[in-house]
Amino acid sequence: MTDSIAKGVEILGIVRETPSVRTFSLSRSFSFIPGQFVMVWVPGIDEIPMALSSANSISVQKVGDATSALFALGEGDRIGIRGPLGTGFTPVRPTLAIAGGIGAAPLLPLAEQGKVDTFLLGARTAADIPFRERLQLCTNLSLASDDGSIGTHGFVTALFDAYPPESFSSICVCGPELMMRSVLDRLEKGRIAQRGQFSVHRFMKCGIGICGSCCIDPHGLRICTEGPVVRGDLLIGSEFGRYQRDASGQRRPI
Ligand SMILES: Cc1cc2nc3c(=O)[nH]c(=O)nc-3n(C[C@H](O)[C@H](O)[C@H](O)COP(=O)(O)OP(=O)(O)OC[C@H]3O[C@@H](n4cnc5c(N)ncnc54)[C@H](O)[C@@H]3O)c2cc1C
Repeated sequence: MTDSIAKGVEILGIVRETPSVRTFSLSRSFSFIPGQFVMVWVPGIDEIPMALSSANSISVQKVGDATSALFALGEGDRIGIRGPLGTGFTPVRPTLAIAGGIGAAPLLPLAEQGKVDTFLLGARTAADIPFRERLQLCTNLSLASDDGSIGTHGFVTALFDAYPPESFSSICVCGPELMMRSVLDRLEKGRIAQRGQFSVHRFMKCGIGICGSCCIDPHGLRICTEGPVVRGDLLIGSEFGRYQRDASGQRRPI
């Protein structure tokens, strides 16, 4: 249970990755499997889940109160970290990684461990592509953008013409849920859903499988413990790609 006790860490450095994403390097390194997450306690604000983008960093997109409060912190400030928690990616080579925007954060360390053969990364514009230089150093990176300002014009799934998922033994995916759902549909069509490993995001509170806020219908999988990385065939017929629940447990369509 030591992983469920928050540890105080100092922010040692901050790197601007894109206009809305920053990487915070931490004073402590964690033994982790890429895909696992930590609960980040932002003093006075909230505790929120974040993937580890390396053994000693998180990469954060500014979207609301807690992430804005993180962006207001500087080197030398302290936050709390609980974890690593949940499941990680278990790639079988050859491996295809597919990410949308900040979804690249949990896949970056997998690539830097030399376990990703081809990495498909999409974002809205060229400026929104995170980790480009680091990924180019360790994997075969192919880009797509919604506005055509870099790489293939269109969604990341447009890259399937050049890199069909059927050619890979595992397909590791993280990004907007509708994008992940279209990847799952493609894998299901090719009868290879079990090769997919999806990093599923649900509203998390305890992070250790007790409160039930991150369970998905109808199986009741607890995304904080049986996930966040879940095999594709286990998501077929579930709420994945259709709806999720907010902080109060209310259904929200995706
Ligand atoms: C396993 C996992 C890993 C994640 N990894 C990353 C990452 O590496 N980088 C990154 O930028 N973001 C990551 N996220 C998303 C991140 O947790 C939310 O963006 C963050 O919690 C928003 O908090 P906020 O107070 O700034 O925004 P709010 O305005 O409070 O919320 C904005 C949206 O963020 C989501 N959110 C808020 N609180 C939570 C919560 N406790 N649990 C889950 N979702 C929440 C909800 O969809 C909400 O609508 C991850 C989420 C999960 C579940």
